[in-house]
Amino acid sequence: MSIRPILETRHAQPTLEGAGVKLHRAFGFADPSELDPFLLFDDFRNESPADFAKGFPWHPHRGIETITYVLSGTVEHSDSLGNTGRLGAGDVQWMTAGSGIMHQEMPQGDPNGQMHGFQLWANLPASLKMTTPRYQDINSGEIPQIIDDDGAVVRVIIGAFWGRTGPVDGIAADPQYLDISIPPGVKKTLPIDTYRRAFAYVFEGSAAFADASAPAGVLLEKEVAGEEVNIRDMSGNRTLIRFGSGDEITVQAGADGVRFLLISGAPIQEPVAWHGPIVMNTRQELLQAMNDLRNGSFVRPAH
Ligand code: FE
Repeated sequence: MSIRPILETRHAQPTLEGAGVKLHRAFGFADPSELDPFLLFDDFRNESPADFAKGFPWHPHRGIETITYVLSGTVEHSDSLGNTGRLGAGDVQWMTAGSGIMHQEMPQGDPNGQMHGFQLWANLPASLKMTTPRYQDINSGEIPQIIDDDGAVVRVIIGAFWGRTGPVDGIAADPQYLDISIPPGVKKTLPIDTYRRAFAYVFEGSAAFADASAPAGVLLEKEVAGEEVNIRDMSGNRTLIRFGSGDEITVQAGADGVRFLLISGAPIQEPVAWHGPIVMNTRQELLQAMNDLRNGSFVRPAH
């Protein structure tokens, strides 16, 4: 067994998106090969409706999948094909934009005015960029929740983990999307298949992740339970951790426990031509998408 090294840790950066929604972006619009097959990860957590109520009005997507996971508040969704939906706390929407959708996503806070959720973009390979659009709306209750003897809780949104399989039917990136909570002080070793590219996103509490390679920049170094490993303390304040290759990660929760997403997938390794919410392989395909938007043929009518 080999522990994955930590390639990089980084705080999500404040960003304004949609019609003026304040969110934090962990990655996106920089080097698309960095976390291939994933392109972008946004954390929309706000305490005040003024910071999110304008939402994400009508916009197109083509060539990707967008995955929305709501923790509190709701997101109302509708598209130009007539699909509508409402995501509540714990729900997931896995949208395969494929050949093209026009949609709007409007967050609404909980009774306290709070909103919290995540949106991940997964790339599609050339063979599926123009596939028929598809929605998978998953209710919270359909998501398997595994409770380990030590109190650790894992929600399996997609992929197989500890003998359970998430309800989302993956397309190309063979993704695994886990929501993991670990009680204070508890140490876990979590397997990740070697072919996957993986990242964690810590959003509550803190944890120390073992670092097999201990590159420069290690924040904290100490012995854990007699093992000589280098660990990094991660505050829960919106921290991305990018892992290198190996077949497991080791994490020890801090004094208040930790909650993080652990997301991995098979790299697609194709050229990326990216313009806003449209991600294709070539510039020519981007120009085609712009042309389709202009002449009204972007969204194919439903059959
Ligand atoms: Fe969108």
